[in-house]
Amino acid sequence: MKTTIAILPGDGIGNEVTREAVKALAAIAQKFGHEFNLPEGLIGGAALDAEGNPFPDSTAALCKDSSAVLLGAVGGPTWDKVPTENRPERGLLQLRAALNVFANLRPVAPHPILAGASPIRQDLLEGVDMMVVRELTGGIYFGKKERSADSATDVCTYTRTEIERVLRIAGKLATGRRGKVTSVDKSNVLETSRLWREVTTELMPKEFPNIEVEHLLVDAAAMHLLSRPADFDVIVTENMFGDILTDEASMLAGSMGMLPSASLNEGTIGLYEPIHGSAPDIAHQDKANPCATILSAAMLLRHSLKLEEEAIAIENAITQVLMDGLRTGDIAKENEAVIGTTAMGDAIAAAI
Ligand code: NAD
Repeated sequence: MKTTIAILPGDGIGNEVTREAVKALAAIAQKFGHEFNLPEGLIGGAALDAEGNPFPDSTAALCKDSSAVLLGAVGGPTWDKVPTENRPERGLLQLRAALNVFANLRPVAPHPILAGASPIRQDLLEGVDMMVVRELTGGIYFGKKERSADSATDVCTYTRTEIERVLRIAGKLATGRRGKVTSVDKSNVLETSRLWREVTTELMPKEFPNIEVEHLLVDAAAMHLLSRPADFDVIVTENMFGDILTDEASMLAGSMGMLPSASLNEGTIGLYEPIHGSAPDIAHQDKANPCATILSAAMLLRHSLKLEEEAIAIENAITQVLMDGLRTGDIAKENEAVIGTTAMGDAIAAAI
């Protein structure tokens, strides 16, 4: 296959981890005889510094001309005082909106080899294998914002169509998994959540009659994620709840450095990124775990390019290096030897 994948390193550790993912993609291209063109584009703080815009037109054009986009992370303290409309994170929101990637898939399955890396009790983690589907282009993050010196407003809006399309992705995923969807809302308080539950209750039995549907309020979901994580199969929820719950769920896997994500629309172009941010506390120190980004590249091969065998080759390579005992600092137990970002990326590329 000959194709273009846009690489947007972004800020902080985004640069370091995407470099390692590019090595993995190059190793896949070599092994399976593909030709991946991997042009880089600016986004976030780096784009703001270079072009005065966190999502320049050149980056938008590059992404739209590509089969898929692999992103590192954006943001950092350097840009903390930049006005909201120009913050690095805005660039990411604009990218998601430009690609219309409304469903963010975040698989959470603690790696058995990393038992002990999670702060959660080991017996609770057995059998944990969930897919969180977060609505990504609606809700409070995209609503109208107002600010005066003494008051602030963020508007949360959802339409029936926005809810239906993300439910369909959740339903399809559950069909290929264990057949259960947990829908998370706050319907006891929020009007948008009442619509969310109404649409879910109508659509799911009609379009996915064989899928078991569970409804949870977000506060209860936060608790159940820790008390009975193995009971979840597919979780579907709105933008802000999904943002928060997936960071919580990342602790089941031990580190944010292990968790990839895919953001999809109804077509094949997708945006793939680790769930973590730019980690300014460890940036430029060769300490970041590149696995989440390399696993995001595997999701890219699977969902946008339909290269399942190649995706599995990446996942197997990561399992292999973990079995060989290689650990970055975030997943190492006390007294375990630690390697850097580059060495981890090299080992994964070699294992491919
Ligand atoms: P963060 O995810 O960057 O870091 C949280 C903690 O996890 C830090 O201690 C960090 O060192 C650690 N960590 C994260 N990724 C790691 C990895 N790959 N390997 C090892 N350790 C890792 O969250 P934060 O510190 O709250 O945010 C930092 C910046 O990132 C902020 O500007 C924020 O807005 C931005 N951010 C961006 C994204 C994104 O680009 N998608 C997501 C979240 C936060």
